[in-house]
Amino acid sequence: MGKFISAVLTLIFTIAFNSLLLAHPEGHYKKADLPNLHHWNLNFNHQQVIGNFLMQRNDLIVIEGIEGKMWTIKMNKLDDVDQAYANGEIEKINRLNGFNASEGTSNHSSTYFMYLLIFGGMAITFYGLSVYAARKKMNTNLRLAFSTLSVFAIILFFVSCKKDEPNNGGNGNGNNVITGIPKTTTSFIDSAFTHYKPKISTNWDTTYFYVSSTGIPNHNMMVGISSWQQQVPIPQDYSGTNHWSIPLQPVYATTPLSTRTNFMKGAVAIAVNGIPIFNALNNRGEDSYLIGELDQWGGHCGKGDDYHYHAAPLSLSTISGLKPIAFALDGFAVYGAKEPDGTTMQSLDTCHGHIYNNGVYHYHGTTNYPYVVGAMKGKVVTDPTTPAPENQILPQAFAHPIRPALTPLRNAVITGFTAPTSSSYNLTYQLGNRFGHVNYNWTTNGVYHFEFIDTAGITTTANY
Ligand SMILES: [Zn+2]
Ligand SMILES: [Zn+2]
Repeated sequence: MGKFISAVLTLIFTIAFNSLLLAHPEGHYKKADLPNLHHWNLNFNHQQVIGNFLMQRNDLIVIEGIEGKMWTIKMNKLDDVDQAYANGEIEKINRLNGFNASEGTSNHSSTYFMYLLIFGGMAITFYGLSVYAARKKMNTNLRLAFSTLSVFAIILFFVSCKKDEPNNGGNGNGNNVITGIPKTTTSFIDSAFTHYKPKISTNWDTTYFYVSSTGIPNHNMMVGISSWQQQVPIPQDYSGTNHWSIPLQPVYATTPLSTRTNFMKGAVAIAVNGIPIFNALNNRGEDSYLIGELDQWGGHCGKGDDYHYHAAPLSLSTISGLKPIAFALDGFAVYGAKEPDGTTMQSLDTCHGHIYNNGVYHYHGTTNYPYVVGAMKGKVVTDPTTPAPENQILPQAFAHPIRPALTPLRNAVITGFTAPTSSSYNLTYQLGNRFGHVNYNWTTNGVYHFEFIDTAGITTTANY
């Protein structure tokens, strides 16, 4: 009888153990396996962990290294490339176990439902047997054994119930499995903006990465503009609640909104130097770059004297290297002329981006239309008060004009722009063979003094 009980116990434990472990890749690595193991980059201390993905528990993943070494690491402590890799491994294992990641936990439930039936059935059977044994006044040991087995089966039944709770909810990375897009790590975004601090500053919460800036780049401006609206750059207050917001969890749009027919108002991306990037088309639908509205860095000033780009700020790659040069307001990174790994840029889709080898979608800045974003790959919220094509993306930072907007100065070409002090600029333009000037400065209280010297040499001044 003892043999019978131990056989039943073994059977129960085998089923229970398998149900809790789930399928996972082969483990137990030796030193010789080292070159074949995955190198995981941790984003918080730049260390590496070498081992293979073993399993996932909520927002934790377990990595198995050589000689049985195990690490339990929070998903968001991995760099973005390894988060994407881990998500790939999780999906593979979910498939192995008959789960379907995109459908959440439906198949997951059916697997556990089977175990619930088995353990529930066992509990009822053993309970019945122990009652039967008691009635027939059978051997005490046998009655005790049936009661014990029914209790075990009941415990396993409840363990299975608990395990069946969906593990997609209630943790930071739950969405990863549902959307297939890993949540962007703040350290990854921040590393792209770092080169431009302290002129800009960054912070974040669980939803957005925020960028505060004065809207003044670290390069010169205005020179090269041949179609000038007479606006000039003045510092902007993109700070406090008027900061730029990059969503941390991009979500693919069902139908990406084209920049040809949308977003003529407001920015579509924020460059890593804190300068907004607007639609390649101006608000009249013309290619800003082709009609000479832009300086040699791809920017100019709007009606609020706010400096912004319409073309890709590719010159930032000199400082940024292979890091992103911008982030679109849907949350996806914008890289320069090369792939993040330094190789030649691969072909782009109509949104002006692609998924490269890390499995995460990104855009590229190029020297041709649409320059930065062809269509918003990610979902964005648009301002309901400004219908398409002027549907600006929200949240959005705003410029605060200090003077009325001016009119274009036909045939003027901007030939010089200097900063005599940290709070003044002198702009020189050429009209025919004569030169005109706009010299301006400002106080810390935000009082602006302008001096306009036209091509006939006549000076006028204005304070704002
Ligand atoms: Zn503009
Ligand atoms: Zn790429």
